[in-house]
Amino acid sequence: MTYQPSVPNDLDAFWLPFTPNRQFKKEPRLVVSAKDMHYTSADGRRILDGSAGLWCVNAGHARERIVDAIKRSAETLDFAPSFMYANPMAFELATKIAELTPDPLNRIFFTNSGSEAVDTALKIALAYHRARGEGQRTRLIGRERGYHGVGFGGISVGGIVKNRNVFGSLLTGVDHLPHTHLPAKNAFTKGEPEHGAELADELERIVQLHDPSTVAAVIVEPMAGSTGVLVPPKGYLKRLREICDAHGILLIFDEVITGFGRLGTAFAAQRFGVTPDLMTMAKGLTNAAVPMGAVAARDDIYETFMTGPEHVIELFHGYTYSAHPMACAAGIAALDLYKEEKLFDRVAGLEDYWQEAVHGLADAPNVIDIRNIGLVGAIELKAKEGAPGKRGFDAMVRAFEKGAMIRVTADIIALSPPFIISKDQIDELMATVREVLEDVE
Ligand code: PMP
Repeated sequence: MTYQPSVPNDLDAFWLPFTPNRQFKKEPRLVVSAKDMHYTSADGRRILDGSAGLWCVNAGHARERIVDAIKRSAETLDFAPSFMYANPMAFELATKIAELTPDPLNRIFFTNSGSEAVDTALKIALAYHRARGEGQRTRLIGRERGYHGVGFGGISVGGIVKNRNVFGSLLTGVDHLPHTHLPAKNAFTKGEPEHGAELADELERIVQLHDPSTVAAVIVEPMAGSTGVLVPPKGYLKRLREICDAHGILLIFDEVITGFGRLGTAFAAQRFGVTPDLMTMAKGLTNAAVPMGAVAARDDIYETFMTGPEHVIELFHGYTYSAHPMACAAGIAALDLYKEEKLFDRVAGLEDYWQEAVHGLADAPNVIDIRNIGLVGAIELKAKEGAPGKRGFDAMVRAFEKGAMIRVTADIIALSPPFIISKDQIDELMATVREVLEDVE
């Protein structure tokens, strides 16, 4: 018998994450199935997926190859520990990931989410310095408007005030670079903004405020996604790389959103020609069909840990579900699918069309900026007097009523569809967003 989802009668028990719960429970937005570019809502409407779920369903929904792989793995190996034992798929998937990551980032540590990947990367950075006899390197540097998940490490280096300010004292020894959003200079830029590379020099200033030899790592999203799509200014990431190199500081790219083709290359590192020392990923790793994240580390970082007696654990870190067989199976199938259908190239091929389509909304009501790169677009709206975030929120609600799923961060609409979107569907998505902006005017 096929599973028949129904609308639940009781909405009390589920406490929704990152959601205004009281509003939601009055007007629930429920989706009950998904295929390719569409969700189906509980009231039977087709909803065009303008956000790839949460930037994660890169190849479109319920792809048969991935579904089959998950089924097979659930039947044959429901679970295997990856402490002291392992399932062969974990090695296969790690090898496939290492083929996509820039050299020399060839060592893969598995987690279950982006948040766990971030905390893992920070811990690897700290432990690496200690293993090399530089245990004084404990300071971490993030960036304003950075989003690095919700673990205590991630919110400490993250730069979203509301994700931090009610959760106590967080990690100590953390500084933040300024964000790179310069609307006065860069508004309505197509692709990478011209202005702002010099903001990277703030890193030099911050490390000089301390002793540079006390700084362990800098973590940034190459393109900040969750805080409204901040595309790095031309030359900015290269400058960060140079400053890190000058002081022996590790550079971590959080590629949870940008990984697996979102910018038309496997990772943003390749798009921008800057190689970090550690890299986090999640979301598209399994096409989001099973939760999974990972950290890619430089070969020599891994090798630094491989000393001491062989029976002794080299890194005291890991999760029960690290390299879960079902996630590995989904990951292998997803990466094979990306390759076979050349989906990263498809993003690169669609970018110009997408760019013009997103910027075509410049004359819609209340639009104050538009940004884009790869298959990502942001439409920033003028906030309503006295009610910041309300216009954006209303736009999201209205879009769902009109048959499109979009993402909003306060008054910024972010669009990031699955890579299989057609040009007609791009037009349809933009037409819906335009109608919505007229409606919420
Ligand atoms: N880092 C970045 C850059 C992200 O965008 C996200 C999720 N949007 C995370 C980390 C956290 O990932 P997760 O929600 O899987 O924990």
